Amino acid sequence: MAVVGGSAAGFFAAYLLAREGVPVRVFEQSERLDAAARTLIVTRRMNDLLGSVGEPCIVNEVRRFELFTDGRAAMVDLAQPDLVIERAKLIRSLAERAQKAGAKVHLGRSFRNLTPLPEKISLELQHTGKNTSEEFAAQTVVASDGALSAVAQAAGWPRPSTVPLVQAIVPLPKDMSPDTVRVWFVPDDTPYFYWLIPESAQRGALGIIGESGSEARKYLEAFLVKRKLDPITFQGARIPVYKRWVPVQKKFGNARVFLAGDAAAQVKVSTVGGIVTGLRGAAGVAKAILNPGSEHELRRLRRELDTHLLIRRALHDFQQDDYSRLVDSLNPMTKRSLSRFSRDEALKVLWRVCISQPRLILMGLRGLLTGRRFDQRNS
Ligand SMILES: Cc1cc2nc3c(=O)[nH]c(=O)nc-3n(C[C@H](O)[C@H](O)[C@H](O)COP(=O)(O)OP(=O)(O)OC[C@H]3O[C@@H](n4cnc5c(N)ncnc54)[C@H](O)[C@@H]3O)c2cc1C
Repeated sequence: MAVVGGSAAGFFAAYLLAREGVPVRVFEQSERLDAAARTLIVTRRMNDLLGSVGEPCIVNEVRRFELFTDGRAAMVDLAQPDLVIERAKLIRSLAERAQKAGAKVHLGRSFRNLTPLPEKISLELQHTGKNTSEEFAAQTVVASDGALSAVAQAAGWPRPSTVPLVQAIVPLPKDMSPDTVRVWFVPDDTPYFYWLIPESAQRGALGIIGESGSEARKYLEAFLVKRKLDPITFQGARIPVYKRWVPVQKKFGNARVFLAGDAAAQVKVSTVGGIVTGLRGAAGVAKAILNPGSEHELRRLRRELDTHLLIRRALHDFQQDDYSRLVDSLNPMTKRSLSRFSRDEALKVLWRVCISQPRLILMGLRGLLTGRRFDQRNS
């Protein structure tokens, strides 16, 4: 069994398979396990999936969201705190756990190509920074090599659309509590939003999801100036846009290739968060490998991702007036629903929010009927 891509989804799949006795090799292109630092926010669902493996990466907890648009504000208190995590620590912790379970990790191996063999498939792995390569034959391959997955392309999956996410680490503003996330809806700059996530009492990550890389950086820099915040460092990458469910399995002769995480665009497109859903994808793939035909986990993940897609389509063409109305519509009952259910329970959130504020159904329907930009930009 080969896993290509040593990151969150890859090491989690490797751990789940290795602990069941499957011989697993993880091939990662980086020469050292030192993924670029990235401050991320996830729901407590990460803990349900990872248990103690996730603990070393938690740097802060968040109990409140403040939403801003055009001079208006709304607060949502969370019944269960969200977790602010450091991605590099998460990857190290998952790698250790996978290795303890028996997985072998091979660094400095960059996947190049797949060749079918009578019973298996052969992976061509180039030695990073050298002109040499090696072959590895496997019956099953898990591709967790991220948004631009070379394995997915070699196996015939279409390349997903991606959007740039860029964030600056900044000193936390004096008026901001370290247990609060700020979100700004500024539709002239982005159909998504800006965020400021506190990673400690001193520092936070101020970011934007854009539609083009250079524009996202330009808008972020202008926003930093407006907020009088000096960037300490920048973090960024392109993240896939989920447009429809990507079937995660393909036959390659007698061998099988699976996709997990960003490689399968398993990203909640409402907020463009991919950690929890990527881990769920990895767990689903591990189950499908261990018990062929077992698709329950993956079907649930698909429903979740489809619900986020519906929300994104409804919101994507919102103008300033729409966001103002949205923030004004957040009555106490709606806020309670947003507080009780997390972003990883999208159907429950959607259902309760619509019951508590029927105006939002009309706004959402209008967005769905008139909004075209999301599907056009990302086709
Ligand atoms: C600035 C920013 C902020 C974000 N904020 C959040 C957030 O708050 N919450 C959230 O949930 N998500 C967030 N995300 C998204 C999240 O980081 C990703 O969805 C997640 O990290 C994807 O994990 P992955 O394991 O699927 O893939 P990746 O982390 O992309 O890992 C892919 C691995 O494959 C390796 N690889 C690639 N090509 C090859 C090859 N050819 N051969 C061998 N190895 C290869 C790479 O080196 C890498 O180690 C954010 C992203 C960015 C950029």
